Amino acid sequence: MGLGFIPLGVGDAYSALHYSSCVAVEADGRWLLVDCPHPIRKILREGSVQSGAGLDVGSFEAVVITHVHADHCSGLEGLGFFAHFVLNRRTKLLAHPRVADGLWAGRLSGGMAEVADPATWASRRRSFSDYFDLALLDEDHAVRAGPFEIECRRTRHPVPTTALRIRAGGRTLALSSDTSFDPHLVDWLAEADVFLHETGPSIHTHYDALARLPPAVRRRARLIHYPDDLDPARHELEALVQGRRYDVP
Ligand SMILES: [Zn+2]
Repeated sequence: MGLGFIPLGVGDAYSALHYSSCVAVEADGRWLLVDCPHPIRKILREGSVQSGAGLDVGSFEAVVITHVHADHCSGLEGLGFFAHFVLNRRTKLLAHPRVADGLWAGRLSGGMAEVADPATWASRRRSFSDYFDLALLDEDHAVRAGPFEIECRRTRHPVPTTALRIRAGGRTLALSSDTSFDPHLVDWLAEADVFLHETGPSIHTHYDALARLPPAVRRRARLIHYPDDLDPARHELEALVQGRRYDVP
């Protein structure tokens, strides 16, 4: 048992060095994908080569989407198509109701609502539920997917966005997703054994704010969604390495 994770992408939205933020979480050989940037199969393959995890689209109990910005969900079209046409299965998707509202109408329907019969080119309509089996996250209750119990909390970001706490194998991993610095959110995240926090300029969480947290909180924090000019050697908080496997102690 136990809980582990692989940060498949650690970069911010503008990164030229890393894939954007995306984490595979594992408990007892079962996997949960948190966020899904493009090109997701290449991201999964490269993370698997580095970690030995052997992940592909069919490996996951479910995919959790924290918000509809492209660096967090631009891979959903490719993942949904691959699952639908190649694996012949629907993808279980978890998202807060406000996030789910924007997914189909605001992002996916443009590319996925019409498919064609390859023999006749006759157009066929497809709906969100043809590709995805949606379960809504709830701010008041944990939602289960396989061995994972998932809690969510809204963050400070221009579009509806949720931080997560994921419990399995007797451990809890938390992820800030995108947010400006919010001490109440940090308190919520720091109840976990380990929490992954974004950092960056402007509307993001400035590193100095995280560096001023109490030592007991800082010890449980790991940096993700960081800018290319962040030098891990010059920062006390540990910056996650893309493709490395970590255990939640
Ligand atoms: Zn964002």
